[in-house]
Amino acid sequence: MQKYIAFFKNEKVKQLIIATLFYKPEAYKKDFKLHYVGLEIPNKFIVGYGLDYNGLGRDLPAVYQLKTTQHMINIVLFGPPGAGKGTQANFLKDKYNLVHISTGDVFRYNIKNETALGTLAKSYMDKGQLVPDEVTIDMLNAEVEKNADANGFIFDGFPRTHKQAEVLDALMDSKDSQINAMVALEVDDEILVGRLLVRGKTSGRPDDADESIIRNRIKEYYDKTAILKDYYSAQGKYYGVDGVGSIEEITQRLSTVLDKL
Ligand code: AMP
Repeated sequence: MQKYIAFFKNEKVKQLIIATLFYKPEAYKKDFKLHYVGLEIPNKFIVGYGLDYNGLGRDLPAVYQLKTTQHMINIVLFGPPGAGKGTQANFLKDKYNLVHISTGDVFRYNIKNETALGTLAKSYMDKGQLVPDEVTIDMLNAEVEKNADANGFIFDGFPRTHKQAEVLDALMDSKDSQINAMVALEVDDEILVGRLLVRGKTSGRPDDADESIIRNRIKEYYDKTAILKDYYSAQGKYYGVDGVGSIEEITQRLSTVLDKL
């Protein structure tokens, strides 16, 4: 504008009128008078209506503001109890620099520290039942907020109900983000029971120690959680992975899916 004004002044034009479509008071540092202002806007990067970002967006028929939050990759690691979610999440979080949130681990941490949340959760967990949604959702929200600058999350053991899946979508949306994929470890029930009984010998988890509780956890999964496969399939986000094999083989299968995202 400085150049044009100098140029026109040089040409001795009779009158010079400046019209601006968008005016950002915080950004405008010159004192040339703006005779016409279309719209006063905050100092945000906008695209569309002839304005571009690295050549993109110019042709958009409306005006948009660029997102300022960083791009996150968020994965729901899914599968019945004993499928190996926790084991695999430990590898994937390092490989992809993601924050791993296991709701089961957070509950166990609270039980160990004898918090009110822990006492409440224990009464359900010991029977192999799901902890009520309100309690679990509040806790999940708090865990996500604790990691505000994460590159993304691996959710392990959450969501487990339709309600939790909806809440998670809304939470990601509030962060200008989304769940990119549900990656499910597929393992036969009898293999699961066998694995959990073996784990129970060393895990110290009361819900791993007793076959009837293990079977109840698997039943809860089919009654309340398995339907989430349809929820994410409908959004084109479901990826099933064979969960039987060596730990390294399964990490490799999961990585093949994540690499594509
Ligand atoms: P996990 O460590 O994922 O096997 O979870 C152990 C137990 O914690 C489950 O059997 C539930 O009682 C409880 N739990 C963990 N995550 C959730 C969740 N998203 N909703 C309800 N209960 C949960």
